[in-house]
Amino acid sequence: MRCIFCGYNDSKVVDSRYLKDSSIRRRRECLRCGKRFTTYETVESNPMVVTNVDNMREPFKREKLEDSIKYAVYCTDVDNVDEIVSKIENRLFALQKQEISTKDIVKEALEILLEYSTMACLVYYTQHTDCDSFDGIRRFINR
Ligand SMILES: [Zn+2]
Repeated sequence: MRCIFCGYNDSKVVDSRYLKDSSIRRRRECLRCGKRFTTYETVESNPMVVTNVDNMREPFKREKLEDSIKYAVYCTDVDNVDEIVSKIENRLFALQKQEISTKDIVKEALEILLEYSTMACLVYYTQHTDCDSFDGIRRFINR
């Protein structure tokens, strides 16, 4: 991404935000002049790939995450699913990895859900981890 001030073609990303219209806004800092500028990139040009437990790869899909969050909050009074999903996505994009694992998604989703509802967090946990031990979730919630 070429610097708009000095034209140098290398910059580092200092902040990424996932926007509602499926684009990513990035704050970049030029590695030569140090000035900061903003770029807007579409998700299509920057696909994030998810690897699951069987090492299968598939493109990251917001709808899939949204469905799992809707399920988790179903029996709670949480109604801002869109906001929760966006927060989780922002965290995932902030990892700045082309390839993330389902574990990464579960970890970030649990962190965010906990801000909203312990119940939703529990439901999500039982759906997405082998819950042969409830110690894990107890440790997580009681941190
Ligand atoms: Zn520059």
